[in-house]
Amino acid sequence: MPQRTAVVTGASSGIGAATARLLAQQGWHVVVGARRVDRLEALAAEIGGTAHALDVTDQASVDAFCEAVGPCHLLVNNAGGALGTTSVAEADDAEWLRMFEMNVMGTLRLTRALLPQLIASGDGQVISIGSIAALEPYPGGAGYNAAKHAVKALTRVLRLEMKGRPIRVCEIDPGLVETEFSLVRFFGDQERADKVYEGMTPLTADDVAEAIAWVASRPAHVNIDQLLIMPRDQVSAQVVHRTV
Ligand code: NAP
Repeated sequence: MPQRTAVVTGASSGIGAATARLLAQQGWHVVVGARRVDRLEALAAEIGGTAHALDVTDQASVDAFCEAVGPCHLLVNNAGGALGTTSVAEADDAEWLRMFEMNVMGTLRLTRALLPQLIASGDGQVISIGSIAALEPYPGGAGYNAAKHAVKALTRVLRLEMKGRPIRVCEIDPGLVETEFSLVRFFGDQERADKVYEGMTPLTADDVAEAIAWVASRPAHVNIDQLLIMPRDQVSAQVVHRTV
C-alpha cells in the first residue's frame, strides 16, 4: 500500500507532537503544522515528515499550508487551547475571540480546506481534539467551555453531513493532560500551571496520542464517534483526587 499522509495541527508541542511521532512510527507520512517553525522542523527531521508554518487563526496561512499538503487521508485537528479563567461577569472579549479563533475557526478552516483531498482518498478521516470542557462546564471555564462545545457541534454536524461519503469523523475529549496547555492558559505562570497537576497523576501527551493512533488505525468501516479519556485521579472536570 502506498504511504498514507496525515496532517497534524499544533504539532510543535504536547499532544500534537506526540501524535506526529506515533503516526510516523506506524508508517504514516506526517505533515506537521504550528506557528513555532523551529520546533516543527526539528520534529519533521526526527520523524521523516514535512513541516509547514501554520497559524490556524489566519485563513491565508491555512490556504498556504493546505496547498503544500497534497493527497491526504487523515486530519488531526489538535491546535487549540484555553486562555485565562475569568468569570462570565468579568469576561475578556479578546480572550474569548482568541479561543474561538484557535479552537473553532481553526478546526473549521482546516477541515473545510482538506475535505476534498480526504474524500478523494477513498478512506479519509477527521479526528478533532475536544476536551472534557466540551461536556462539562465549570466556573471560570466559560470561554473555553463555549469554544469546545462549538468544536463538538461542528464535529457532530460534519459526521451527519458526510453520510454516504468515505470519511470517518471522531472527537477525542481528554481530561487533564500535562503539556504546555496550562502554561499557555495562565500566560506563562509556571507555578500556577504546576498546581493544576499537583498531587495527582495526569495523562501524558503519549496517552492521548495512543488513542488518536488507535482511532486512525481501525478498519475503514469502523467509525469511533467520540472518546472521553481522563486520568484515574480525575473523576469529572473539576473533581480530582489529590494527595496534597
Ligand atoms: P500545548 O502543549 O499547549 O499544545 C498546543 C499546540 O497548539 C501547540 O503546538 C501550539 O503551537 C498549537 N497552536 C496554538 N495556537 C495555534 C495557532 N493559532 N495556529 C497553529 N497552532 C496553534 O497543549 P496540548 O495539551 O497539547 O493541546 C492540544 C489540544 O488538546 C488543544 O486543542 C487543547 O485544547 C486540547 N486539550 C488539552 C488538554 C490538556 O489538559 N492538556 C485537555 C483537553 C483538551 P504554536 O504555539 O507553535 O502555534
